Amino acid sequence: MSIAENIAALRARMEAAALAAGRDPSEILLCAATKMNDAERVKEAVAAGVDCCGENRVQELVQKQPLGAYEGKPVHFIGHLQTNKLNKVVGKVDLIQSVDRLELLEAVNRTALRLGLKQDILFEVNVAAEPQKGGFTPEEALALAGKLGDYPGVRLRGLMAIPPISVKKGDNCKYFAKMRNLYIDIAAKKYDNVSMVCLSMGMSDDFEDAIAEGSTMIRVGTAIFGPRHYS
Ligand SMILES: *Cc1c(COP(=O)(O)O)cnc(C)c1O
Repeated sequence: MSIAENIAALRARMEAAALAAGRDPSEILLCAATKMNDAERVKEAVAAGVDCCGENRVQELVQKQPLGAYEGKPVHFIGHLQTNKLNKVVGKVDLIQSVDRLELLEAVNRTALRLGLKQDILFEVNVAAEPQKGGFTPEEALALAGKLGDYPGVRLRGLMAIPPISVKKGDNCKYFAKMRNLYIDIAAKKYDNVSMVCLSMGMSDDFEDAIAEGSTMIRVGTAIFGPRHYS
């Protein structure tokens, strides 16, 4: 199957999942997780109508962006981000989804202020409390959202989560529901510099569950591009 055919099939499944949950399919955006796919393949996905692209590695972003890989669609950063690479990311991407620690929030804020811009961000939440993964606890995310007024170089636009690999349907529903509740709680506080407009959760193996539980953006790699070949 071509990338365009994969995306068409994915859109049909997204729509069915939204309707089954009583949701409007247009509420749910498709972010192509483009890691390990070159600029030509990313362009194919953009032409076939994904809503945005998400890069994991600064090196790949820096390679593909000058080739016009994302042209016409927003590009997001979705991977682990080191503070010494922020010059290549802040102001270069529409959204940093993976702000996963206080040190990174502070560094993104400083870099954005120095560049004279506002960087949109999401907080990454380690919703299943997995020791090997980054991310705020739900309690930390809530508390820090209340302090966003102190960070005028960023705007908090929502939350992102990467729960454990879903082995069978339904496995991650409890984590997705926890994320939705946190998202609603933060939105209800009407904190300065915070607007909850993006709840990024769901990947190739669990996006239907994520949509059922309130996701507004799924990040999909394998189901668009096929399996990645790690060497
Ligand atoms: C790779 C990746 C995805 C997509 O994973 P698939 O299982 O291939 O759909 C989503 N989010 C992040 C942060 C990723 O790194």
